[in-house]
Amino acid sequence: MSANQFSVSPIGHIKTPFKQKFAIPRQPNLAKAKGAIFLREDLSDPVVFKGLEGFTHLWLLFVFHQTKDNGWKPAVKAPRLGGNQTMGVFASRSTHRPNAIGMSVVKNLGWEKYESGLQLNVEGVDLLDGTPIVDIKPYVPYADKVIDAEDNLASYGAIPKKQVLLEPHLAELLNVARKKHPDIDQLLVDVLAQDPRPAYRHKLDNDDKIYRVALYEYDIGFKVENGSIKVVDFRPDKPLSV
Ligand code: SAH
Repeated sequence: MSANQFSVSPIGHIKTPFKQKFAIPRQPNLAKAKGAIFLREDLSDPVVFKGLEGFTHLWLLFVFHQTKDNGWKPAVKAPRLGGNQTMGVFASRSTHRPNAIGMSVVKNLGWEKYESGLQLNVEGVDLLDGTPIVDIKPYVPYADKVIDAEDNLASYGAIPKKQVLLEPHLAELLNVARKKHPDIDQLLVDVLAQDPRPAYRHKLDNDDKIYRVALYEYDIGFKVENGSIKVVDFRPDKPLSV
């Protein structure tokens, strides 16, 4: 292999509640979304995680597998700039990069044995279900925490934090879903409060279009009413086992 060509294979895959790209938060820790990384069997020796419990947070390096074959763009529309102005690919966290590599800091919830392999539990993911993970490293605050770091885009547009309301007739369905996924309420609020609509529609305080979001096995519909996100539909994709 030449010094200019590398081959990287996944060390495992992550299971997350996000079954499609729409509505996945744009960065980690914006939603308390849980993920479980299933390590490749030949790497599943508990020794690989020795000492991991000493770190509250971890870096995940992964491949944007769903979009990696679409090529890359030298500049991208920046959602935080209202979706009109562009930023250079290396000045952004765009998924359309020359190498489709993503990185996210997540909370370490510990590892456990899973069948004949190992499972590492994390929280705060912004990854699609099934994303290939290429590396896991501890987040080390003494070096990674940059106290005087600034992000000058922060002044343009904060991430929305809208009120999320549920149509009353959906309460019973949610009640059933909660038995299987105790974090469903939190996830729904975290994800929808950020207003997953395209940036140019954020100023519409009343938007009758029904947007659909896939979380776990649920197909969820929402619209926007008086500036609040209103969940109008909540359906299991497949029958719920209670
Ligand atoms: N924190 C990462 C990712 C930022 S982009 C980084 O900075 O590198 C986050 C977006 O990536 C999500 O909103 C989702 O739309 C997209 N995404 C997540 N997993 C993906 C995957 N496996 N393939 C393609 N896109 C993905």
